[in-house]
Amino acid sequence: MNVQVTTGSGNGSEPDTAKYVYLFTEVEEAERHAGNWDGVRGLLGGKGANLAEMTRVGVPVPPGFIVTTEACNAYLEAGEQFPPGMWEEVLAAVKAIEEATGKEFGNPDNPLLVSARSGGKFSMPGMMDTVLNIGLSDEVVEGLIGLTEDPRFVYDSYRRLVQMFGSVVLGVPDEPFEEVITRQREKRDVKSDAELTAEDWREITDKFRVIFRKNTGMEFPTDPFEQLKMATEAVFKSWNGKRAVDYRNAAGIAHDLGTAVNIVTMVFGNMGDDSATGVAMSRNASTGEPELEGDYLINAQGEDVVAGIRATKPLSNLKTVMPELYNEFEEIANRLEAHYRNMQDLEFTIENGKLWLLQTRDGKRTAQAEVRIAVDMVEEGLITKEEAVRRVQPAQVDFFLHPQLDEEAKKATEPFAEGLNVSPGAAVGVVAFDADTAERWAKEDGKKVIMVRPETKPDDVHGMLAAQGILTSRGGRTSHAALVARQFGTPAVVGVSELDIDLINREMSVGDLVVKEGDWISLDGTLGLVYVGEMPTFVPDINNPYLLKLLSWADEIRKLGVWANADYPRDARRAREYGAEGIGLCRTEHMFFETERMPIVQQMIMTKSERERNEAIDKLLPLQRGDFEGLFEAMDGLPVIVRLIDPPLHEFLPAHDELVQELADLKIRLQHLDSMAAIEQTLDDIQVKQRYLERVEALHEQNPMLGTRGVRLGILIPELTKMQVRAIFEAACRVAKAGIDVHPEVMIPLTSHVNELKTQQLALESVAKEVMDEQGIEIDYKFGTMIEIPRAALTADEMAEFAQFFSFGTNDLTQTVFGISRDDAEAGFLVDYIQKGILPENPFASIDPNGVGKLMDIAVRAGRETRPDMEIGICGEHGGDPKSIELCHKIGLNYVSCSPFRVPIARLAAAHAVLNEK
Ligand code: PEP
Ligand code: MG
Repeated sequence: MNVQVTTGSGNGSEPDTAKYVYLFTEVEEAERHAGNWDGVRGLLGGKGANLAEMTRVGVPVPPGFIVTTEACNAYLEAGEQFPPGMWEEVLAAVKAIEEATGKEFGNPDNPLLVSARSGGKFSMPGMMDTVLNIGLSDEVVEGLIGLTEDPRFVYDSYRRLVQMFGSVVLGVPDEPFEEVITRQREKRDVKSDAELTAEDWREITDKFRVIFRKNTGMEFPTDPFEQLKMATEAVFKSWNGKRAVDYRNAAGIAHDLGTAVNIVTMVFGNMGDDSATGVAMSRNASTGEPELEGDYLINAQGEDVVAGIRATKPLSNLKTVMPELYNEFEEIANRLEAHYRNMQDLEFTIENGKLWLLQTRDGKRTAQAEVRIAVDMVEEGLITKEEAVRRVQPAQVDFFLHPQLDEEAKKATEPFAEGLNVSPGAAVGVVAFDADTAERWAKEDGKKVIMVRPETKPDDVHGMLAAQGILTSRGGRTSHAALVARQFGTPAVVGVSELDIDLINREMSVGDLVVKEGDWISLDGTLGLVYVGEMPTFVPDINNPYLLKLLSWADEIRKLGVWANADYPRDARRAREYGAEGIGLCRTEHMFFETERMPIVQQMIMTKSERERNEAIDKLLPLQRGDFEGLFEAMDGLPVIVRLIDPPLHEFLPAHDELVQELADLKIRLQHLDSMAAIEQTLDDIQVKQRYLERVEALHEQNPMLGTRGVRLGILIPELTKMQVRAIFEAACRVAKAGIDVHPEVMIPLTSHVNELKTQQLALESVAKEVMDEQGIEIDYKFGTMIEIPRAALTADEMAEFAQFFSFGTNDLTQTVFGISRDDAEAGFLVDYIQKGILPENPFASIDPNGVGKLMDIAVRAGRETRPDMEIGICGEHGGDPKSIELCHKIGLNYVSCSPFRVPIARLAAAHAVLNEK
């Protein structure tokens, strides 16, 4: 198998000449050309690079060669013309594999057959084209029958070539081919293809060639080199096929990489009962358990396994059927895992008792498996802790917070059907029986959809991406549906064989139970169960031991602290459980919105008398104090930043339009009343509403976002913020006396001028001192400000003379730096801006590095000029966004603060920020 012959150009005297073809034995040369392994993958495609690498490490791979991605790009750029010299290199490479195999392309006495398989740098399962059995012709068929004495196998192979060549290379639809096979089965009165005879396949092949001629206007080409040429072109062109382009858009793969073409000597798993074909993952792709897992079929070709047409056997069965080959395969799987230091997705074929590996690549896996494998591999000594942390993406941590079906609801409901649990998590939605409907319902009608199909194909990906979950009646763990679902983290149940899907009548059934399109169903992708109806879901506990370990490693690496935004003790407790090291933002006004407090807040706003206002404020004091006590207790030992009231006051009153309407209704009612008591009551109501309306109108601002809110409100009604500070310090003193280690930090919002901060802070600090004096206890505390107005950022050196800490409010900062409304833009022109590429990203989701980020950097430097060890963090929504976290790390913030559910993600992202710097 060691082919020593080198191919045509690109070597010897002309080192700069392009080399478009590499034999599997030429991986070193490819490495010299491409610079490193990543470059080799780019040049040879992932599949080709791995076939060549497997050859290098002595794994049995059928001889072959790779036409590079550079050739593909040159072909596409030149208007579908092979680049000069490429075809001559292919011919030389064919010669080389003829020598290696001792077979000859097109020679009926000893024919070489090859496959042409696509393979770009990044795996795009099933998105591009493959042609098998290239090299068969009428003559070769005759010769091969003589050699193998197996005419059934030979004709089966021939008809596969005609069919694949027709559909892949020349776009002939599949249906007429399938129709011919179905009719032949009916004619012979048999149920499966396996029962068809050699003569059947010969007849089928003849009919296939007629279909081919009718659809293409040409005879099926019998010259093997013509077949090879056309197949190579078809693979090149499939790079720009719709489904490949859609997939790349969804997976974020660049469009200019091109695909390589792998020309590989055919080995046959359908040569009889000592032949087989299968696929395997070196570890469990759903859970990450360290066990070989896969499916195989005796006497079959590779696509039979992947297509899910025949019922496959679990790989563990092979241990009893072919124990030696199983052991050999297991040894190779372990060797390849150790070599690539990653879980492998393997394809193999056994031809007359000889094992061949046809592919290895890093296996796609669920987030759960990713975490477990990374942790296990550290413990097995295969990778370092840093590599493990780097491998798991922050978004994958999200999976652990994936909704699951409510346990009680599950106990109370019989499953409708059961299948394979190929992608975990719960999905609840209405049934849609095709990809277009699924996409339309999800995108246009905002419905939650479960896409249900007998099996999925690459053309269905758009529907799968739009769906909450995927359900198929056929297919296995490595089926298209399973692979795509796992990659995108979509819950899926496949291979539900008892499920009868009627695509014509748009319904599915199990026995007498019928579910129609549009009906609700619930999937448990973790257990492979399907339920009828809309079941409640819950978010699981994230105390997965592997995740906890991985996050503890991330904690060792990261420099940024991770705090949480939490308004209530229960949120704070959750945040702490997830690893938060402080509360970065408690929005106190949220406490005012509680139903029983609203009347008091409204009384405070409505009254013109100072006494009445103070009475209302006094009523609020114990309530706020209670809130803070709960927060401090939950965060015992950790800092808690409490932000003083921020929104404009009119937000606490009923809406203007509502009041006008209510008043009008009351006045109409008055005209129809005759009881004196009712009239008096209504008059009172009118008076109250009238007062509300006057106050709402008095407080009305054209642009409340830029109006009397934040520190401006505190300066306007100092009693309000003083009450809040009193509540904070009374709570802190009380819990401190009870033994809680408390560190309150009082944050003043929306400052833009140092004088605002000075006025407010000095007034409030004296309240804090007063309370501590009253309580006879000293508390460790800080006063500081949000930086959420550009002027505050630009004058951060002045601000830092008073503020002991800063926290970036990047929601308002983004709004004010861009001058766009945070409330309206995301539903308006911003979408258009992002689609047109005017803005590379939504600046409310990820910090705009060149504008907002730059201003933050200026503020950090200026603030620390005045106060070198100043604590600076972020509490805007960006605090949980991995890219923004990296920026926060770079500009030297002390911590990021995000919602409790983002805390684990932020811990990992903060570690990535350190690793990315290296
Ligand atoms: C901010 O503006 O980023 C912030 C955290 O404050 P809020 O969202 O409450 O305005
Ligand atoms: Mg703000």
